[in-house]
Amino acid sequence: MKDSEAQLNKLIDEVKLCKKCELSKTRIKTVFSDGCEYAPVMFIGEAPGKNEDEVGIPFIGRAGQLLRKYLFETGYKQEDFYIANTVKCRPPENRKPTPKEKEACYPYLEKQIELVDPEIIVLVGSTAMESFIKEKTTITKARGKIFEANVAGKIRKFFPVFHPSYLLRYHSEENGTPRYLFREDLNAVRNLISR
Ligand code: URA
Ligand code: SF4
Repeated sequence: MKDSEAQLNKLIDEVKLCKKCELSKTRIKTVFSDGCEYAPVMFIGEAPGKNEDEVGIPFIGRAGQLLRKYLFETGYKQEDFYIANTVKCRPPENRKPTPKEKEACYPYLEKQIELVDPEIIVLVGSTAMESFIKEKTTITKARGKIFEANVAGKIRKFFPVFHPSYLLRYHSEENGTPRYLFREDLNAVRNLISR
């Protein structure tokens, strides 16, 4: 086991006991990550939903299944990605996490970024985007573009994409539709990584 993996495991245990914000009172399980600790691509979503809270794994509900479907369809393998969220506990009624909750949880996310040290970080939806991209923009304008920011000790690449829960509202995959653009973005990220 690499040292970074041991440190991530330690962090998982720490998060399980975390009471730094109100979300600790209503969660069932903490939701830390899924995927490979050495992956070149890290996906950061918003927050756990109902299914994730029950099982303790990110992106396993309807939106998550859609993300995973597109990942595998565009050629990603299990070892190519690592998935996390801006907060590790489910916000009640799936509301957005508050700035205070995101701030309380941010040190865990920052440590995950440092230890996984991916080549590129995909920001899934506007909540994750707003945590790292400070300029005023929208997901529709920013998706599919590379942004750089100094995070966890170095300049890193960030790539916003639509949130899959948004894609659930549209079914067409024709040229120009949200699903089409999502697939294009996943392809673009794959072409940016070195392996
Ligand atoms: N949506 C998210 O943003 N994260 C999850 O883990 C599940 C759904
Ligand atoms: Fe702790 Fe993050 Fe859960 Fe809040 S959301 S209790 S900061 S692990």
